[in-house]
Amino acid sequence: MKRKEFLVMTGGLLAASAFLPVGMMSCQRKEIKSSRVKVSTLIYELHLRQAWTLSRGTWTTRRNVLVRLEKDGIAGYGEAAPIPRYQESAESNQEFIKKALPILEKDLWTFQDRWQELDQLAAGQNAAKAALDMAILDWVCKSLKVPLYKFLGLDRNKTLSTTFSIGIDEIPVMQKTAQQAKDFQVLKIKVGLKDDKKIIEGIREVTNRPLRVDANEGWKTKEEALEMINWLADKGVEFVEQPLPAANLDDYRWLKERVKIPIIADESVHKSHDVPSLASAFHGINIKLMKCGGIQEALRLVAVARAFDLKVMIGCMIESSLAIAAAAALTPLFDYADLDGNLLIDNDPFKGLKLEKDRWLLPEAPGLGIEPVIPEW
Ligand code: MG
Repeated sequence: MKRKEFLVMTGGLLAASAFLPVGMMSCQRKEIKSSRVKVSTLIYELHLRQAWTLSRGTWTTRRNVLVRLEKDGIAGYGEAAPIPRYQESAESNQEFIKKALPILEKDLWTFQDRWQELDQLAAGQNAAKAALDMAILDWVCKSLKVPLYKFLGLDRNKTLSTTFSIGIDEIPVMQKTAQQAKDFQVLKIKVGLKDDKKIIEGIREVTNRPLRVDANEGWKTKEEALEMINWLADKGVEFVEQPLPAANLDDYRWLKERVKIPIIADESVHKSHDVPSLASAFHGINIKLMKCGGIQEALRLVAVARAFDLKVMIGCMIESSLAIAAAAALTPLFDYADLDGNLLIDNDPFKGLKLEKDRWLLPEAPGLGIEPVIPEW
């Protein structure tokens, strides 16, 4: 585990030399104490309970970046789950956060301006932008002593149930996982590698629960996708996520006119300006904080999607309960939730978010309502 900590002092008391290399934190504690804004980042390796396979790879660990932003004695937390498909790594996310320090020194109460500045600071690195947006809003809500959901005017009794995701594996392993996830009313099945029909038939041998299927761009032609989707419709699948490569919008428009069940965009959608061109190609969109750059942009995505009569789903990457708490607080605005990233790991560095069967119970504490449990933090 690597730790990197750096300070910002408003008023220019500390300059670039305040970026501290690993191992030098202890001799700089006085300076930390006297600073008005302190930003710390920690690259944290999440350990998956079982190997996680999608159409584009297999992982047993994920390296996320945790952020702690402290100002006026209040700490806001954020998390970046970097997405390799978009040229992000823990290091590139961490570098972005370091570069963002002049923005974080400014007034955090005008957080809408801060988000625009973060978004314009560099292209991409949306997971890092999400982490900072989360940390700023956690700080704002803690300063006001209100939970995030209340700050946004949302009803904590209306959070959604989450699906439980089953990665691609040997069919007996997937069957066993489906059986163990008995508290989840709906399962999300990853496909898109090979033997997809055998996988679904295998799952159907052990459960009649509704299924949602995610091909992660795994099918290559529109004809193959159409045949698979309409076959899945007859197997009790509610909808299919991202059957074809993200850029093939003409193929999606062809598909949308022919499929029996909805198709949902995931890799095809990032920010709110993507939505208008997707409305003729999909029935709905999967919004993720890490893809769009945070809570504020997720809210804009929901508004634009609703204007185009699209369904909205909130999804996640492999994340700790910190980022899941941020997303769970937004679920009253959504039609579907797939927020189980923290359930797939065995070393969650935060506590405070609780699951009641398959529904997240939002903490009543201010901000995101979670607290770190790792001693290094
Ligand atoms: Mg997906």
